[in-house]
Amino acid sequence: MTDRAENDVLGDLDPNQVRVRFPPSPTGLLTVGNIRSALFNWAFARHYGGKLVLRIEDTDTARNTDEGYHYTLESLQWLGLTWDEGPDIGGEYGPYKQSERMDIYGDVVEKLLAASKAYHCYCSQEELDQRREAARTAGQHSGYDGHCRTLTAQQVQAYVEEGRRPVVRLRMPDRPIVFDDLVRGEITFLPENLGDYVLVRANGYPLYPLVNPVDDALMEITHVLRGEDLLPSTPRQIALYEALAGIGVGSGRTPRFGHLPFVMGTEGNKKLSKRDPGAGLGEYMARGFLPEGLLNYLALLGWSIADDRDVFTMAEMIEAFDIRKVNANAARFDPKKCEAINAAHMRMIPPEEFAQRMIPFLAKEGLLPAEPSDEQLALLRATVPLVQERINSFSESVEMVGFLFVDEEAFSIDPDAAAKGLSGDADAVLDASIKALSDVEWNTAAIETALREALIDGLGLKPRNAFGPVRVAISGRRISPPLFESLELLGRDKSLHRLEQARRTA
Ligand code: GLU
Ligand code: ZN
Repeated sequence: MTDRAENDVLGDLDPNQVRVRFPPSPTGLLTVGNIRSALFNWAFARHYGGKLVLRIEDTDTARNTDEGYHYTLESLQWLGLTWDEGPDIGGEYGPYKQSERMDIYGDVVEKLLAASKAYHCYCSQEELDQRREAARTAGQHSGYDGHCRTLTAQQVQAYVEEGRRPVVRLRMPDRPIVFDDLVRGEITFLPENLGDYVLVRANGYPLYPLVNPVDDALMEITHVLRGEDLLPSTPRQIALYEALAGIGVGSGRTPRFGHLPFVMGTEGNKKLSKRDPGAGLGEYMARGFLPEGLLNYLALLGWSIADDRDVFTMAEMIEAFDIRKVNANAARFDPKKCEAINAAHMRMIPPEEFAQRMIPFLAKEGLLPAEPSDEQLALLRATVPLVQERINSFSESVEMVGFLFVDEEAFSIDPDAAAKGLSGDADAVLDASIKALSDVEWNTAAIETALREALIDGLGLKPRNAFGPVRVAISGRRISPPLFESLELLGRDKSLHRLEQARRTA
């Protein structure tokens, strides 16, 4: 067993010869698992100064849509995972959409057949099922039995005359396939578990186990970093790379593999499904996560920058990324931690950027125009010091600062907040607050002094009981940014108006 840390990732390659790929099927859904793969390939390419190829695996026309294609590109752009070659920007190894490469696959298959690396198989499904069942009963391996490996010309002719249409199978080598996984170390697959597999269906449709390695070979991919779920197909793919090398197709080099650990659901007992909450990228975009916050968390699903450190920038990840340090054990997806890591990134961004990033979320709720006025912008900027430490994603800014932007007529108090916050001593508190705030100088310190005097000294209340009703009255919520600052930002007129409104309902 090779010590992984000693593993030579590059072999005889110069670092900048590294070529990795991200090959999504554009079905319109990117999951955290897909993105983790994209991220690790991107970090790997950027670490070595190599290339990341975006290849669209859209041969399954039923499931792939043009919308899905655009969504995939936009998602990667949103994440900031840049690629060096792809369907939108071209490159020397195009086309980069598999649907535009059908002729290429046809040619390659002809060459594999001519060199006898692949062969036509005429077995019907019933025949295959029967023989598989018989093998199973006899306690033998139940993969394809090689029936059509050595058909005579007469046998072939007889099948053709019967009107059978063949599939194409790869002739698998009769020896173990051993490879040195960059994440898992040496892995061996025995030939009895690797039957000759189908490359092309009887209707001429080229399958994933054909097109994916053919493209890797032609695009001169040097490293394949992908999810552990694809590990069972790797020995078959390696046999195909070798066959392709034998007929002079592509780089002649079998890529190095690294299989990234499974992402388990929150419970840790089964794989995260694309239907699980938190599994799809769209949710994070809608909630206003920072791309770098989400990516930082996804990096932790298998990798860490240091034992005692969870938060890092993408520049730091690129610098430190080492595929040999990826943990082979399944990683558990933890939405709470994801949110906490995002929050840490929210704390780090410059105030002006923070303000700008809140705009679309407030605009979506009609609280701000898409292009706010100078006055609105000034108010928004003033909220940043109050909320930057308090929200975990930008959609939360609506709840947090919406009360400062809402039209007076549209302002309302959340019923639950009203029930809890405007009961008890609320009448007295509101009356005293209105009085205290009517002629105080309008700044945070003066507001605080006036309210403390009126409510704590004057009414003898505990701070919680004193300020709770004021908070609910002016923000409509039980949780808001710090109260005195909020009052200052809201302004005297609106503050008094809302306190009076609340007094009427209390
Ligand atoms: N299109 C495949 C997928 O999305 C690619 C897998 C691979 O990386 O080889 O699962
Ligand atoms: Zn057959």
